[in-house]
This record gives sequence, structure tokens and C-alpha cells, in this order.
Amino acid sequence: MNHYSLCFECLESDPNTSVWAIGELTNDLFAICICPKGHKTLSSLMHHTPDILYMSAVQAFRKECYSESILSFTAAFERTCELFFKAFGLKHGLTTEQIDEMWKEMKNQSERQYGAFCLAYCVATNSPWAAAPQQVEFRNKVVHKGYIATKAEAEAYAEYITDNLNKIITVLNGDYEKECRDIYFSCKKKISPVIDKHMKGDPDLKFSATGLPSLLRWNHRDREHIRFREVLQVASRLEAKHLPK
Ligand SMILES: [Zn+2]
Repeated sequence: MNHYSLCFECLESDPNTSVWAIGELTNDLFAICICPKGHKTLSSLMHHTPDILYMSAVQAFRKECYSESILSFTAAFERTCELFFKAFGLKHGLTTEQIDEMWKEMKNQSERQYGAFCLAYCVATNSPWAAAPQQVEFRNKVVHKGYIATKAEAEAYAEYITDNLNKIITVLNGDYEKECRDIYFSCKKKISPVIDKHMKGDPDLKFSATGLPSLLRWNHRDREHIRFREVLQVASRLEAKHLPK
């Protein structure tokens, strides 16, 4: 996934122009971006991983890659469930190390992860989590059987996932804000040796902590229930305003 970052060196030499540096985003949520003049910026994203996966899914949908968008929407949901489970564990007195150890046992088994999430959600909210069997069946057809999704099918699935994420983020932003912040900083601490290595290995590399506008409005205090149709409109406006032409 490409990532665009403003080049601050170009901005310093001419404050009236915006020059974009482009790089490839890694799983550690940073990209080494290079501008047309060769200035290099290590841009580290200040987001939870599922927020970025959701952006990637929306991008795929807007590029008419509908089946690909289903994969990223599913990944965004699964990683949000992971975040919820971990925040729930922290709130109930477990340490980050204990939670990571426990998660390792489920790492490659999404059904186990989903089961752990369902239990945590039910205890946290006093209401059972309920998936829509029709959408689960559709996702499995796309992911495991190579079913080619139409725009209408992908849109219905995206609306379903957005609705689910709304429910989970509302709980996270309410009772689990501190735990989510702790998880975020713990993730950043884990990847800091990788970033340090890049920074020390290249004296010309500049560091930038980057916050993108979250399509899910993840950390917004006035966050309301978001519909996928609105997300598409926002994504279109942001692209026109922020991305290089
Ligand atoms: Zn530059």
C-alpha cells in the first residue's frame, strides 16, 4: 500500500509549495517516503492497525477491486476484535505480556480469536455479539472459494462491517480508552528498534509522526454512528484535498 507524506525539507526551503514524498507502508505502520528531489522521510503512522486496514479496504473498493476490498474489510474487523480482546484483558488486570502469550495460542486460528472476542464483548457490554450468517457465508465464499464479488455485494458487506466496527469502537472509546492507548504505545515500543535502525543507518533520513484523517473517525470525541456511504463521500473529498494530483 502506497503512503504519501509531505516533504518537510522541501516545505522548509519553500513554504508556499506542498511536495509529496511517496513510500510503501510496512506491517509496522511506517513508510520510508522519498520526494522528487530525493529527500527521505520515515513517516510513522499514529493509528491502530485496523484503522489503516479499513482505509486500505475503502481504497480497494473505490478502485473497483471489490473482492480485494472484502479481504481488507475482513482483516480490519478481525484486528479490531483483537484490539478489543486485548483491551478487555488489560482492563481485567492481565499484563501486556500475558495477553500476548495468550494471543499466540490463537494467532493462526481466526475462529478461536472470534470466540475470545465474543466472550469479551458479551461480558463487557452485557449483550451477546451477533453476526449476520448471510454476510459470513458471503465473506467465506470470497475468501476461500474465489467468488468474484459485485459492487452491490461488496457495498452491502462494507456497510455490514462498518456497522460492526461502529459498535466495537463505541465501546472501546468509552470504557477502554486508557487500555487502547496503552496497547498503542506498547505496539510503538515493539517497533522502535526497527525504526531506530533505519534512522541510525541513514543520516539523511528525517522522522515524522503522521496522523491521517481516520475514515472511521476512530479517536474523535464527537464520534457518531458512521455509514459506509458517508465514508465513501469523505474518502473522495480527502483524496481531492490531500493527495498529489
Ligand atoms: Zn523534498
